[in-house]
Amino acid sequence: MINITLPDGSVRQYDKGISSMQIAQSISEGLARNVLAAEVNGQVWDASRPIEEDSNVKLLTWNDDAGKSTFWHSSAHLMAEALEALYPGTKFGIGPAIETGFYYDVDFGDQEFSSDHFKQIEDKMLELAKAKEEFIRKPVSKADAIEYFTEKGDEYKLDLIKDLPDGSITFYSQGDFTDLCRGPHIPNTGFIKAIKLMNTAGAYWRGDETRKQLTRIYGVTFPKSSELTEYLRVIEEAKKRDHRKLGKELELFAFSEKVGMGLPLWLPKGTALRERLVNFLQRAQVKSGYEQVITPHIGHKNLYVTSGHYEKYGKDSFQPIKTPQEGEEFFLKPMNCPHHCEIYKTKPRSYKDLPVRYAEFGTVYRYEQSGELHGLTRVRGFTQDDAHLFCRPDQVKEEFMKVIDLVLYVFSALGFEDYTAQVSLRDPDNKSKYIGSDENWALAEAAIIEAAEEKGLRTVVEYGEAAFYGPKLDFMVKDALGRKWQLGTIQVDYNLPERFELEYTGSDNLKHRPVMIHRAPFGSLERFVAVLIEHCAGNFPLWLSPDQFIILPISEKFEDYAKNLSDELKNSDIRGLIDFRDEKIGRKIRDAEVKKIPYMLIVGEKEAAEGTISVRKHGVGDLGSLTIEDFKQQLIKETTV
Ligand SMILES: [Zn+2]
Ligand SMILES: [Zn+2]
Repeated sequence: MINITLPDGSVRQYDKGISSMQIAQSISEGLARNVLAAEVNGQVWDASRPIEEDSNVKLLTWNDDAGKSTFWHSSAHLMAEALEALYPGTKFGIGPAIETGFYYDVDFGDQEFSSDHFKQIEDKMLELAKAKEEFIRKPVSKADAIEYFTEKGDEYKLDLIKDLPDGSITFYSQGDFTDLCRGPHIPNTGFIKAIKLMNTAGAYWRGDETRKQLTRIYGVTFPKSSELTEYLRVIEEAKKRDHRKLGKELELFAFSEKVGMGLPLWLPKGTALRERLVNFLQRAQVKSGYEQVITPHIGHKNLYVTSGHYEKYGKDSFQPIKTPQEGEEFFLKPMNCPHHCEIYKTKPRSYKDLPVRYAEFGTVYRYEQSGELHGLTRVRGFTQDDAHLFCRPDQVKEEFMKVIDLVLYVFSALGFEDYTAQVSLRDPDNKSKYIGSDENWALAEAAIIEAAEEKGLRTVVEYGEAAFYGPKLDFMVKDALGRKWQLGTIQVDYNLPERFELEYTGSDNLKHRPVMIHRAPFGSLERFVAVLIEHCAGNFPLWLSPDQFIILPISEKFEDYAKNLSDELKNSDIRGLIDFRDEKIGRKIRDAEVKKIPYMLIVGEKEAAEGTISVRKHGVGDLGSLTIEDFKQQLIKETTV
């Protein structure tokens, strides 16, 4: 008998050679129907593979990332089987799972292929899936593997085999198709119920431009057809909400090749929106005891040698800026922390002075390869809503609680309601790779977990995910389309206080090192605005909206009334504009809807005579006639954050 330990800690005894699938069946038939693979002592295995010794077993389903990727990788095999049936002689490169779905790089030889053939392949895959073909694992010798693929004439597989040590090679077969693969796979093709091939691309064999270009076919599959429908809906919706598209339409930001790739230009409306975010956070920070500081955009090389950034980012970063004085080198700052450490050092600190909290909307520059750049989410220059807290070890928990409050305040004001906290701790088996004392780590880790608990956060704890310099808490936010974004981070740092020799005098009159906490609720303004645009589809909360109203006069005759109305609203800090164009009112309304302006105020004969406005709300419709005073009150109420 062997002992199988399940994730809940329970131990069950089984005969040697039991498979994970049989373990699942012994627990419940329902569970067994959903098991795709299993994690056995940390390695993902076929659910059918026999277990020969005492093991920790976690059954994997569609709800586990490893379950999904096994499902998608197995789907790549299924696609290859279909391709081989439809296009005999096709040769196969590699077919991995990716973040969503899978691809296979294939060589069709002389056979014509285009995305017009997708439907035919999908149908074939569904037919083979219905046959519930089992994935069968078979260890083979290197000689046999070479013989098989030589006979088949697949030079790509032979190229892969050449690098594999004898004794480590396995084949997997389903139906008539056999592939070189280390696995794992799902039990049979019948789990795959919905299939969509997405697109093709050219891909050089082994990423080498001097070698043959293969056809990469991307696809995605699901265990239920309703999940595919939902997936395709989200893709369509995401295209409509793409922040690069909306950023242009709403005139928020732009890029210019002349200025440089990855360097966003904020247009007036985008700047106003950004300023409002900054003011909003600044007000909240002042209330929470932060002090605002400003530091330069560059720093002397020595600053980054001390901080360790030079060593870490040196060659990947932008090149140094040399001044006329010999030997002097400056760098664009990749982070604000080193500057803030120097501010901390400008005077002696006592334990009574702590915590000290320095906040800065600090613009930093980091080199990203041009292929990595993407709208506002991956840029080369961005502004962090940065702050550094310097506190005593016993203050870490309270500071974390306060930062959590601040982050949640930001989320609620901006309509992010679905989030979890990820707490990243040390790898308990490998403590030596972390800087800082064992005692301080234990204190900080406990403090973070307690703070998250006391604030009622839904928390996932990840061991081994902490940075070498300290544990952290990240907020993972789900947007309106269910996509996950990492926003908001709080990070303990034992490294920089050490490197900069930061000190405070304790109640014992001795010198101590403060703990440094980095935190940024938005992360960066650029990325945050991008996520916000896509989350709310450009329909910003009213307090943030670039224009809150647009007055639409029915004809030229009512322009004076429109101007007076506009002045009155602006006097109450309500912002907007007037559409003076000589257009039909229907057209003006349509254009205002495209611009996503929250309130359309229509004024004509009746309104001018009665001193009222006819109000239309974006995405809602006609709200009827209101007095100017009532409208003002409604807006003031709606914009109070
Ligand atoms: Zn495989
Ligand atoms: Zn920092």
